[in-house]
Amino acid sequence: MCGIVGIVGKSNAERIILNGLERLEYRGYDSAGLYVADRTSDHLVKAQGRIKNLEEKVTSEVTGTIGIGHTRWATHGKPSEMNAHPHTSANQALVLVHNGVIENFEELHQEYLSNHQFEGQTDTEIVVHLIEVLKSKTTARPKQPSKKLCP
Ligand code: GLU
Repeated sequence: MCGIVGIVGKSNAERIILNGLERLEYRGYDSAGLYVADRTSDHLVKAQGRIKNLEEKVTSEVTGTIGIGHTRWATHGKPSEMNAHPHTSANQALVLVHNGVIENFEELHQEYLSNHQFEGQTDTEIVVHLIEVLKSKTTARPKQPSKKLCP
């Protein structure tokens, strides 16, 4: 069963996330990853296997004030660095971790994302791409002219 840690802080989000993920290790997992950002940079780091493997890839420049982390128990797609969470939207603007199963991910893929390229095989990746598509439709909708109610 996966674990999720999120932080909105002032510094060293990566350390807080790694500590949190270590505390969730008992739940079982096959890979782990984290995303951290501050006003000037962001970083996405993933590793197959133990949190220790992830920690080794978190170099001194991987730092931020906000972030999310995840330990994955694969349900869709093999355990691998590629399939580890977080997953990003095509435009890299959205970053998602997810616990559980998206039962209708194939239908969502066919209906909305048939022209999208995916890096891995997870159901989660479908969702982050879908949010991007739906968000762009919502924000692209022209505003209705305001109607005058009274003469
Ligand atoms: N279904 C997702 C995957 O296979 C999430 C699994 C989990 O809960 O860790 O990546």
